[in-house]
Amino acid sequence: MTIEATQDNLIVGVVGAGAMGRGIAQVAATGGCTIKLFDTRIESSKEAVDFIDNMLGRAVEKNRMTADDAKAAMARIEVLETMSGFADCHVIIEAATENLDIKRKIFSELESIVGDDVILASNTSSLSVTTIASSCQHPERVAGFHFFNPVPLMKLVEVIDGVRTAPDVADFLFALGARMGREPVRVADAPGFLVNQVGRGYTIEAAHLNSEGVADYVDVDRIMRDAAGFRMGPFELLDLTALDVTHPATKMIYEQFYHEARYRPSTKMNTRMEAGLLGRKTKQGYYAYQDGKQAVPEEEAAPEYDGRAVWVSQANPETCAQITELLNKLNAKIDNGEEPGEDSLIIVAPLGIDATTAALEEGLDPEHTVALDTLFGLDVRRTVMKTPVTDAAFVASARGLLTGDGVPVTVIRDSAGFVTQRILAMIVNIGCSIAQSGTATPLDIDKAVTMGLGYPHGPLAFGDFLGADRILEILISIFEITGDPRYRPTPWLRRRALLGESLLTPES
Ligand code: NAD
Repeated sequence: MTIEATQDNLIVGVVGAGAMGRGIAQVAATGGCTIKLFDTRIESSKEAVDFIDNMLGRAVEKNRMTADDAKAAMARIEVLETMSGFADCHVIIEAATENLDIKRKIFSELESIVGDDVILASNTSSLSVTTIASSCQHPERVAGFHFFNPVPLMKLVEVIDGVRTAPDVADFLFALGARMGREPVRVADAPGFLVNQVGRGYTIEAAHLNSEGVADYVDVDRIMRDAAGFRMGPFELLDLTALDVTHPATKMIYEQFYHEARYRPSTKMNTRMEAGLLGRKTKQGYYAYQDGKQAVPEEEAAPEYDGRAVWVSQANPETCAQITELLNKLNAKIDNGEEPGEDSLIIVAPLGIDATTAALEEGLDPEHTVALDTLFGLDVRRTVMKTPVTDAAFVASARGLLTGDGVPVTVIRDSAGFVTQRILAMIVNIGCSIAQSGTATPLDIDKAVTMGLGYPHGPLAFGDFLGADRILEILISIFEITGDPRYRPTPWLRRRALLGESLLTPES
């Protein structure tokens, strides 16, 4: 290839001047490229130019760029009235409406306008890059260039190799991404590419937990924010991205994976979408919104600890010690008997097992038993799971006792795996399946997810942090109890957990 992404006079075409196209044009212009912008709606291109001018003006005010540089960047942007103006471009980035027919038509027209060595990239978020390329005369010059919204703030860009993409085409886009101030990662074409695949683990598992009646959406959000350290709960996030965007994308990923159970959409999400409960943009999603403010139901006040004796399961000595240490701090009356006293509250701490199974396996009274989630420690929020028959007075004792130091407690219904255990095991397992399929390198998987989704860790490092052996145990138990292939552990996870190796360990 004769074109260099770093060359001075690089001319970049952008098709589509909507939310993404204008962001892409902005960062390409500030990266020193000349931009040719086309949209079937000329007003859209004009609005885009005003938008970029405004954004660069703000950057100047904040001393992030000089007024001269902003002016020079604006002077490099040209609005086209027809696609024929793309003739002298070196690379064209398509960011038009997400529709295969529209994109195929655009690519076919571009091929009739530009020379054979011009690179064509698509910013599609859910269509196969290989499929878009397949109708082109030169599929080897077509690749995915997947930016995130809002482009100027989101540094990540996925460079996607379609099956027939020439390696130097993706190399070029990688270098161009860097020139545009992005952090590129190289991804092989796959449904949802990399980031959108992992993102399903968070929201869909949460939706399944909610559909099964395990926990209300507010409680799932509280647990994932406070205990697991995510910036936003999964339902807040769904409200922000809107169900009519997230649910169809999920369905598409599920279809493209030939109904892989890990990506199975939630029927309840579908009915909520049909009902128009889309999120912030319709002022009613999982939460209600007034003047852009989310209405969050208050947490129920906990009762006082009634002084009931507490017996802690010794099935796992480590968690038993962890819980006993907390109970001592809370001045609990501890039942040290080999077996629980007749009226003692029983605490079990299972991994991937429901409270019912844990109680029965240990020969404990399920009416007196609650389970406590220890996966993320017990310091910020505590989750108590009851069996279907746990006596309300015993649940109240547990709540009263465990909120004694001001740490909030969430009570959930019985489930094979607590909220954190199920969601994290799903995220880690999907990350492992991406590594297994060679869609991206282990390091890029974690880099892309932390940058693109803002999770506290990438899926593989998260697995290492929580213990790959524990994640494996959670998945094996959930799979055994539910029989749902959604929870079967990937070979990548199983082997590394058995070997005691980091989940970031590549194949030798
Ligand atoms: P948008 O609706 O804001 O903008 C799309 C623009 O394309 C519109 O201005 C429309 O007039 C124009 N358009 C439609 N047909 C065209 C054609 N034949 N030629 C030229 N322009 C045409 O959409 P968007 O959010 O900017 O999304 C654009 C692409 O980026 C889609 O493929 C989408 O999947 C992808 N994407 C979107 C996001 C996001 O969060 N919005 C994130 C990543 C990728």
